[in-house]
Amino acid sequence: MPPQLPTGTPTEAFIDGRFVPASDGATVSTVNPATGEHLADVAACGPQDVDRAVRAARSTFESGVWSRIHPNERRTVLMRLVELLEENAEDLARLEALDAGKPITDCREFDLPATIEAVRWYAEAADKFFGKTTPVGGEAMGMIVHEPLGVVGAVLPWNFPLSMLTWKLGPALASGCSVVVKPPELASLTTLRFAELAAEAGVPNGVLNVVPGLGHVAGQALGLHPDVDLITFTGSNEVGRRFLEYSAQSNLKKVVLELGGKAPQVVLADNRDRLAEVAADLAGAAFGNNGQNCTAGSRILVDRSIMDEFVAELVKVTEEQWPVGDPMDEGTVLGSLIEESALTRCTAYVDGAVADGAVVATGGRRLREDSGGWFYAPTVVTNVREDMPIAREEIFGPVTVVIPFDGVEDALRIANDTDFGLAANVWGRDLDDVLFLARRIKAGTVSVNGYSEGDISTPFGGYRQSGFGGRDNGMEAFEQYTETKTIWISLQRG
Ligand code: NAD
Repeated sequence: MPPQLPTGTPTEAFIDGRFVPASDGATVSTVNPATGEHLADVAACGPQDVDRAVRAARSTFESGVWSRIHPNERRTVLMRLVELLEENAEDLARLEALDAGKPITDCREFDLPATIEAVRWYAEAADKFFGKTTPVGGEAMGMIVHEPLGVVGAVLPWNFPLSMLTWKLGPALASGCSVVVKPPELASLTTLRFAELAAEAGVPNGVLNVVPGLGHVAGQALGLHPDVDLITFTGSNEVGRRFLEYSAQSNLKKVVLELGGKAPQVVLADNRDRLAEVAADLAGAAFGNNGQNCTAGSRILVDRSIMDEFVAELVKVTEEQWPVGDPMDEGTVLGSLIEESALTRCTAYVDGAVADGAVVATGGRRLREDSGGWFYAPTVVTNVREDMPIAREEIFGPVTVVIPFDGVEDALRIANDTDFGLAANVWGRDLDDVLFLARRIKAGTVSVNGYSEGDISTPFGGYRQSGFGGRDNGMEAFEQYTETKTIWISLQRG
């Protein structure tokens, strides 16, 4: 029998400290991606519900019960939330695996620790985002202070539901903002449970609200709401653009966008003696979370002189170390794609490339069709031209391409020949070559000799069309959630 939703899992909206149905009773079905079976009916909020949530957030923000208390008090509450998350980590991991099709081991070993660490890090940082005074001579004092921004709308994707949530909530709550979250309709259950735990930890009513529902209904209502001060969005470029329009059409709310990518992974010729190690790292970059990752290493650029040996190693490691299976099995490394359209998209990109002369080195087919879920084999494609859609567009599935280059300048040219600029990875030993690429690749994060997005202490966001308006993570994230005010004091005695 397929795993069922644990009894008591919240499925209603969370507004002003209470779970409530959508005002018109509407619901949206959420399914288990590994079986295609119905999991739960979740409240589908409309504009009225979003308005209620924003009013609750505004009223609490203005009351000062969270926004004007000593940051240490916010820290205490958030550290209590950390304890509750730790106590409930296994249940949250199972819920995330069930709702998002992710392997239980990933949820347990990566998603939950990352989620908890984000809340802990921002709880500890709550009283460390300092203001400044400026050198203005003896007749005045110039002070620069940071104040919590106000009501934040957070609109989120399904690929790391909890972890993306806390990238936003950590700094927003630590800053003293009130928040209305629109979780992804494909995986909103853990966000609702998180809100319940936050209330138990002592986050006051109205500070954290969750309005599940459809993007073009609940998400749009939040984007257009005249009393939201900031939309912090993570998701696709297409929807990100809409939030800029919503802002222009409403109250010029601030907008921060974390969008898609097509991250180049550059392998220089001086890796010849460690190609197995490099291939293992780049398989992880490409296939981790089924490639449903904005920084997925979906564009591998390899020095032509080592191309054939590298591809052989990549195929080997892909076939040996990336088994696809039931997400709830402990041995599964790759679970199901999130929905059927993701499977169709992978198939279309790979088949289209093959029709245009590309070669599937491994993968390139649906797996476990009998399960009812949407499983696709991790796939390596070669003989790819730089102008093919498979080499240029975000696929958001376990598909990577390998493209040869001739020398470091050529690698840089191909790496930067994209509208995106979220992340890149450079493997090499020659310091000059590596630093040349690390400094000249246009991306918000460049990792060297090992795929990484950094950690919660390092800012994360994109150059060019991968991002807009600010950064997640690090102390830099506080800039999203605070206003900067100058207080100028004229002094009588110099
Ligand atoms: P998506 O853009 O389809 O959805 C994101 C959110 O926007 C969801 O909550 C959705 O309901 C909402 N939404 C959809 N249509 C809307 C509309 N018309 N108005 C308002 N809201 C709307 O993205 P997704 O499929 O959930 O996630 C995948 C995308 O997210 C990929 O492009 C990926 O690269 C990107 N992503 C980026 C980062 C990053 O930090 N840069 C991290 C994770 C994912």
